[in-house]
Amino acid sequence: MLTIDSSITEIKGIGEKLAEKYSKLNIYKVRDLVTHFPKRYDRYGEIIPVSEVKEGDVVTIEVSLIGRAALRNIKNLKIVAASVRDASGVIHVTWFNMPFLARTLKPGTYYILRGRAARKYSGLTVEQPQIISKQEYFNKKNKLMPVYSLTAGITNNNISKAVSQSLACVGREQDILPAYIRKKYNLVSYAKAVNAIHFPESDESLKEARKRLVFEEFFRFIVSLRVMKTENKKNSIDRIYKSCRMCDKLTDSLPYKLTDAQKKAWLEIKNDMSSGYVMNRMVQGDVGSGKTIVAILALLYNCENGYQGAMMVPTEVLAVQHYDECVRLLEPFGVTVVLLTGSMTAKQKRNAYESIGAGSADIVIGTHALIQDGVKYNNLGLVITDEQHRFGVNQRKNLSERGVRCHTLVMSATPIPRSLALILYGDMDMSVIDMMPAGRIPVKNCVVDTSYRNTAYKFMEKQISDGNQVYIICPMVEQNDDIEAESVIEYTHNLRECMSGNIRIDALYGSMKNSEKNDIMRRFAEHRTDILVSTTVIEVGINVPNATVMMIENSDRFGLAQLHQLRGRVGRGNRQSYCIFMSGSNSKVSMDRLKVLNNSNDGFHIASEDLKLRGPGELAGIRQSGELAFELADIYEDADILKMVDEAVKSIDLNDYSESCGATL
Ligand code: ADP
Ligand code: MG
Repeated sequence: MLTIDSSITEIKGIGEKLAEKYSKLNIYKVRDLVTHFPKRYDRYGEIIPVSEVKEGDVVTIEVSLIGRAALRNIKNLKIVAASVRDASGVIHVTWFNMPFLARTLKPGTYYILRGRAARKYSGLTVEQPQIISKQEYFNKKNKLMPVYSLTAGITNNNISKAVSQSLACVGREQDILPAYIRKKYNLVSYAKAVNAIHFPESDESLKEARKRLVFEEFFRFIVSLRVMKTENKKNSIDRIYKSCRMCDKLTDSLPYKLTDAQKKAWLEIKNDMSSGYVMNRMVQGDVGSGKTIVAILALLYNCENGYQGAMMVPTEVLAVQHYDECVRLLEPFGVTVVLLTGSMTAKQKRNAYESIGAGSADIVIGTHALIQDGVKYNNLGLVITDEQHRFGVNQRKNLSERGVRCHTLVMSATPIPRSLALILYGDMDMSVIDMMPAGRIPVKNCVVDTSYRNTAYKFMEKQISDGNQVYIICPMVEQNDDIEAESVIEYTHNLRECMSGNIRIDALYGSMKNSEKNDIMRRFAEHRTDILVSTTVIEVGINVPNATVMMIENSDRFGLAQLHQLRGRVGRGNRQSYCIFMSGSNSKVSMDRLKVLNNSNDGFHIASEDLKLRGPGELAGIRQSGELAFELADIYEDADILKMVDEAVKSIDLNDYSESCGATL
């Protein structure tokens, strides 16, 4: 019988082959399917006349093909293009990598198509539309349909079907919340909630489901935190930290002076580390405030007193960047820095493991690879997580547990109100870097529509001829790796045609091989390319001070916090930088949102405005990217639920829950 702990291969229609693909989504068991929540919902919407299609909108049209669909090959990209019409007019449609459509689409036949309209060189074009049968359309017209994160070889339909079988296995045993808490906070049962989050009957039931699941997510998080806090409380250590000669030398040798805020954070860290107790500290500072050097100082301090240190970061590209920086700054002191990432060859990894285990590595920098089973540390004294909101509590904890009573430092750019910080980071002391390095010129912003694209390109050419570099964040067609890659490739291809020939352009996207990503980032960092066209993979942490222009296509489709992070990639040097927010939509709501960014470079202000603009109860797509590693919850939008949970957790006995919440006492 299928149970929540069954392997997914026991589900009808999933064999070994498909299971392997599911593993890319971290789905192995039935329970993983239950918690693979939709990233958003779709509704087919009304069919509109072609003449009313507007750029940037997702539209449903009922049209017939004019002539045949043509198949074009651009590089290794296969594009099917066609013109279609209804009684009101004519429009273009294109599909990527579905060459068979050129044969199967019949001239003269009517199709219902649904996709996003974009302005292309040939005119208004509906890109990558779904082809919907009439019957399907009328059956589901007003239903909310789940849209899942996918991976190559698995369709949304595959997942929907597998999920609906899995849901039958959810029973009362999976409900970790006691009845009195459910009643007090008006929460539906777990079974009801997961059913409704996947297949909502109405907006109302979706809202209830989400509330329950967000509550649960915070609940697990806070229980883990409380448990950690009890464990850490005044843990004394006998490691001795005295010398900081090298650290002083390093600060003296920097080409700049630390800001007062950096000095204060560094002093607090030094005091903690030499106090005889375990440090558990967060350094919070807006993007560009200079957190990295503070982390490097802590690593050096730890090393010069004879202990190993490790720094974990969320992306491979960032790991390489930090590694390069550490090597540059610390090798003159005779410090050995080792890189450890998932994309390294087996041999490289073995070498790294060896030097980490033997203690010849003083500092280890890497991604999640740092917490794989094979890694054995030697005399670990300090662990740091950079961009900590990208990690779960348990990952942070895992790294700390690799040593005995390790000092822990976490770095974050997420601006959160103090009251929330106390709940979320209640287990930590805080250092705040609340000023920018001197001499920084604030980034100049502008919000424009797509008709300015060519002007923007001219502007970039001028900047590049002055020796500067440019980032372009590519439009997200769909949050699907394959399509995202194609849109970056296509964009880059078009860009090359618009720009003068001597400008060097590279493209970067998530599904590329890591080694390839690293090469491209290094090329950009070393100014061997002028423009980097990228998806949001470059969002966190990347530091190329010579880049002065950031242009974000379709910026109306990103969250404000994420846009602020993206903008943080420029304005890192001493030249004037610019951020161009290109909006595909002229609606008042999206313009108002972008205006917030236009008028402020302050992450804290932006976060609070974002909250106001979203308004209570608004279901802003399910997942807001960029904020802590929660699946559903959003610390701003769900601040009220967070407070409820904080209160609820105070009323329970932690021992009863630590196991079901994934924490250990
Ligand atoms: P973030 O806080 O976003 O991690 P980084 O640590 O990447 O910021 O720092 C951004 C840039 O500022 C880097 O190029 C770094 O060398 C530089 N920087 C850091 N501190 C100072 C300072 N006190 N004065 C001038 N430049 C600094
Ligand atoms: Mg950083």
